[in-house]
Parts: sequence; C-alpha cells; structure tokens
Amino acid sequence: MKILVINSGSSSIKYQLLDMDTENILVSGLVERIGEEKAVLTSKINPGNETEKIIKIQTAIADHKSGMKKVVSLLVDKDNGVISNTSEIRGVGHRVVHGGEFFHEPAPLTDKVIKGIEANVPLAPLHNPANLDGIHVARELFPAAQQVAVFDTAFHQSMPPHAFLYAIPYKLYEQDRIRRYGFHGTSHKFVAGECARHLDRPLEQCNLITIHLGNGCSMAAVKEGRSVDTSLGMTPLEGLIMGTRSGDIDPALHAILHRSRGMNIEEIDAMLNRQSGLKGLCGMNDMRDIHAARRNGDKMAQLAFDMFVYRIKKYIGQYFAVLGRVDALVFTAGIGENDSETRRAVLSGLKALHIIIDSRANEKSYVDWMRISDSKSRVEVLVIRTNEELEIARQTLKTLT
Ligand code: ADP
Repeated sequence: MKILVINSGSSSIKYQLLDMDTENILVSGLVERIGEEKAVLTSKINPGNETEKIIKIQTAIADHKSGMKKVVSLLVDKDNGVISNTSEIRGVGHRVVHGGEFFHEPAPLTDKVIKGIEANVPLAPLHNPANLDGIHVARELFPAAQQVAVFDTAFHQSMPPHAFLYAIPYKLYEQDRIRRYGFHGTSHKFVAGECARHLDRPLEQCNLITIHLGNGCSMAAVKEGRSVDTSLGMTPLEGLIMGTRSGDIDPALHAILHRSRGMNIEEIDAMLNRQSGLKGLCGMNDMRDIHAARRNGDKMAQLAFDMFVYRIKKYIGQYFAVLGRVDALVFTAGIGENDSETRRAVLSGLKALHIIIDSRANEKSYVDWMRISDSKSRVEVLVIRTNEELEIARQTLKTLT
C-alpha cells in the first residue's frame, strides 16, 4: 500500500512516497522557493539505492497548488514515474506543527479537523497556515486518498498539568491556552518506538530520555512509552540552547532589555529566536564549523559548545529525577546522530547516574542505529536516526479506515 507524506512549509513542500508493505521510499522530493521566479523541484527516485535517479526542474512555481501539480506529473510520468495513477495512493499523511490541545493523536482530515487546525493558527502563525495550504491542495489532487493530519505536538499531550503549566495566572491558561506544548513529537515518538524495539521490550515498559539535537533541539522524558515532560514549551524557544535560539532564559530579560536598550517586543523576540543560541555566542550555528573553530583555539566557539553540552546535562539530571528509573538515553537528529564529540561531552561524568559511554563504539559509523554505552553501564545509550516521514506514514496507515 502506498502512502504519500507531505510537509508543507511557507515556501516549500517536502514529500515522500512510501510503499508501506516494505516501508521503502519510492520517491522523495522537495519543491523550494515557491512563489519565486526560480523555484526548484528536486525528485529522487529510489533514494539511497543503487538505482537512485535524481530529477531537477527549475521553473517559476506560483503557489503550492502548481508545485504539487508538478510533483503529481512526475509521480505518474511515463518514463520516470513510480505509479500509473494517483488513485494508487491510499493515504496522504500531512505534518501539522501545532495541534494545540485538540489533537492527541493523528486525525483523519474532516472539515471539523481542518477547523481545529485553523483554530490553532495563533499558536503557530507561520507553520499551521502553510500546513493547511498543503492539505487543501492534496485534498483536491488526491481525491481517492484518505488524508490524515499528524501533529508535532501530539506525542507530548500526555504531559500532566504540573509539567505543562506555567506558574502564571491560571486564567491565562483557561482563556488563552497559554501552556507548554512541546514540539518534535513525531521524532521523539519514532526514536522511542525504535529504541524499545532494539531493547527488545514493549514500549509501554520503557522509561527513556530522548535527545533530539538538530537546528532545533529538544529532549523528552518518556515514562512507560508516554511523554511526561519535554524541553520546548508554548513555542519552540524554551529549553536547550539551539542553533539560533536561546532556550531557557530569565523571562525578566524582556523588561530589562526594553528599559536599558529601548528594544521593543518584536526586536527582543527576533533576537531570542534568530540571533541567539550558538550563533549569538560565537557567530556560528553549524556544529561542524564550531568544532573546526574550537580546534583552532576559538575561545567563544569553545564556550558556546560547553554551554550547549552543559544545558543538555542539566536536562538529563532533571529527567532522571522525573522518571525515577531510566532504561535508555537516545541521541537523534543532525548533531545527535553525527556528532560523536557532542555525545562524548554530554555523557562524560555521568557515572553517578549509571551512564558509562563506550568511547570506541561512539566513534563507529552505523546505518540506522547503534549502541554506544559500555557493557557496565546500567543505562543503555543508543544513537538512532530519526525518520519523521516514516513515522508520519506509519501513523497515517494506522489511521486509515
Ligand atoms: P533540522 O532541525 O533543520 O532538521 P538537522 O537535524 O538536519 O536539522 O540538524 C542540523 C544540524 O546538524 C546542524 O547544525 C549541523 O551542525 C549538525 N550536523 C550535521 N552533520 C554533522 C556532523 N557530521 N557533525 C556535527 N554536526 C553535524
């Protein structure tokens, strides 16, 4: 059975067509710079296989609908297509960033669900409208397929109130739904499920700390398979230090910066989201550049790295206290999957928590996952490649009627 996964952004559409009998990717692609003269559609047929074929088209693409139409014509193309008709696609899974408190699980896209996603636009003003564009276009172009929304926030809806509330007047929660939601839920859910599989234990019996370190970074405390706390909050600014985002700060900084520098709220918001984090500290937000600079003696790069690692360690400590018993730690996403140096620094000195790294295993190359804890470590440490598209496809498949 074929499932199409769509991740629709404000000027881009990422997509994957998967054969769910084998979970193989038939096509993965990206339409970029929608709305510009020189939009680009890149389509990879049989990606990662010896037979991989890449098609690149540069042309003006006015909107999401014309972008998706081009994708469809490539999918059914006589020479390079992988299906003969769009009706072969049984389900379309849409990544939706904010499900607010309505959505705890994937939802078949009815008009009521679309209204629910619209109602959450104030919580994700940049993302949800772009996700909705993709949904409207796909409903039109794939009328035979069932459409399913998979929410980035859903996995964290199992957080209890004492974890998701802010200690501010309660009416702000009641009236405006101001609370912590968390993000990267699809990734945390995927790696938690894979981790349980590799530990050979039901997910419902696993207590895990999942550590997603990409451009955006977040951690989750997973108790008996369910998220009970996560580091991102009402927006993707709270928690860990990220590429350009500050993570946790004293909320009084807004008032101080306003009074001392005359900065307004928009400026402070932009600073915290785009000019802070690793970039704000050392001018670089790609961890590979930061390592290169550290090796050349760049003190600010070293400080940024140390702060990045320190914050992760603090959250590991917090989540140990939250969970009581931890079976495994999981590293994932760009930095978590590829950067042995960050993993080593984060895991060093955690013997008191029964975490001991196997330094040699940590340096090894791997395909989908590997174990990097020493045999003496009571807590297992795994590195698992995240695969949000596959998780969306799996959840879509489960939701089909
Ligand atoms: P996004 O959040 O945009 O999906 P990714 O998960 O792709 O991001 O992660 C991007 C980050 O991964 C970049 O900051 C980059 O520094 C880091 N990264 C990718 N490869 C490596 C590597 N080999 N070593 C260190 N960091 C890496």
